Amino acid sequence: MKNLPKKITFNKPYLSGKELYYVADAIRSGKTSGNGLYTKKCHDFFEGKFGFKKVLLTTSCTHALEMAALLINIQPGDEVIIPSFTFVSSANAFILQGAKAVFTDSCSDQPNIDAEHIESLISSKTKAIVVVHYAGVACDMKKIMRLADKHGIFVIEDAAHAIDSYYQNETPLGSIGHLSTFSFHETKNLISGEGGMLVVNDDQFAERAEIIWEKGTNRAAFWRGEVDKYNWVDIGSSYLPSEMIAAFLYAQLENLSSIQERRKEVWNIYYEGLNILNNNSKVRLPLIPDYAMNNGHMFYLVCNSLQERTGLINNLNQNNIHAVFHYISLHKSPYYKNKHDGRELANADKYSDRLVRLPFYYELTNSDQNKIIKSILKFYSSV
Ligand SMILES: *Cc1c(COP(=O)(O)O)cnc(C)c1O
Repeated sequence: MKNLPKKITFNKPYLSGKELYYVADAIRSGKTSGNGLYTKKCHDFFEGKFGFKKVLLTTSCTHALEMAALLINIQPGDEVIIPSFTFVSSANAFILQGAKAVFTDSCSDQPNIDAEHIESLISSKTKAIVVVHYAGVACDMKKIMRLADKHGIFVIEDAAHAIDSYYQNETPLGSIGHLSTFSFHETKNLISGEGGMLVVNDDQFAERAEIIWEKGTNRAAFWRGEVDKYNWVDIGSSYLPSEMIAAFLYAQLENLSSIQERRKEVWNIYYEGLNILNNNSKVRLPLIPDYAMNNGHMFYLVCNSLQERTGLINNLNQNNIHAVFHYISLHKSPYYKNKHDGRELANADKYSDRLVRLPFYYELTNSDQNKIIKSILKFYSSV
């Protein structure tokens, strides 16, 4: 058989070693549905490691966002301020409950929500601000929390990219907003195939979060012996993952520091190898504001035009390197474009058109990474 040249994929899910062992253990234990021993181990880990007040594993970050929309009691007509440059779930979870998305632009020098623009968008109908820590880089949380306090609205952190990332060096992302959500989808730093987590930082939501999580019942309190019957007490759905998923995730949690160390190393190698292009303005490398840090979630470049980005992606593809663009501005999506109020969001569109993500995973070899860097430098030596 002919040896086809090996393709460098965009992502490769990393198994840290004990995933199968713990999944088998969960199956052998006889308790395979949710909220068992492995779910508890994961909850304890997150609460201990990051000081989150209360966490609930979910079947996805999408579902954690839907729980957040139910918890803050979104009603038809409520407005939610959301960055346009994000994944559909950051908005869809609120739209499902009848909210109107008020899409907001990104900063000019990096993709996060432009906090300067938020206040002018707040109206008497505004219920919440959703922030997304793009690529694990913190949003301007002090400014955003101050605005939210001033106007009495909630902040929900979509921290899907942001595990083990900190604001001002010490405050874990996900611990700042009233509610926060994480993802363990196979493209994230920690994975369980599909999976996610809701973080409840505001105590007023703690009890109801558990009820919504368990199909609108007080089953979690019943298991703890706090009530003597378990009943249908509120609305809810089935948001808890099975023990097999929690067991898989637990193996990843035990290796959090080595996973993070390796991923940050991959990030640094890209940064050092490509910095020359940043210095001579051929591309923009990720900008990390002084209140934020890099958590090794992804590495991206911002090209000078859509045409240039298409050329780069095609060129890398011909070299068997799979690089990809990212979000398409939600205010221009087929679903929302006719509902958007018409404001131009030029920076969100810039990142839609010009941002490209490079292959990024734990097992990316140094020689593959060097090949990627060389290919990009070569491409830019000719444009
Ligand atoms: C991945 C992602 C989600 C969705 O996560 P799932 O766990 O796949 O539902 C939501 N928001 C952002 C910013 C994401 O990157």
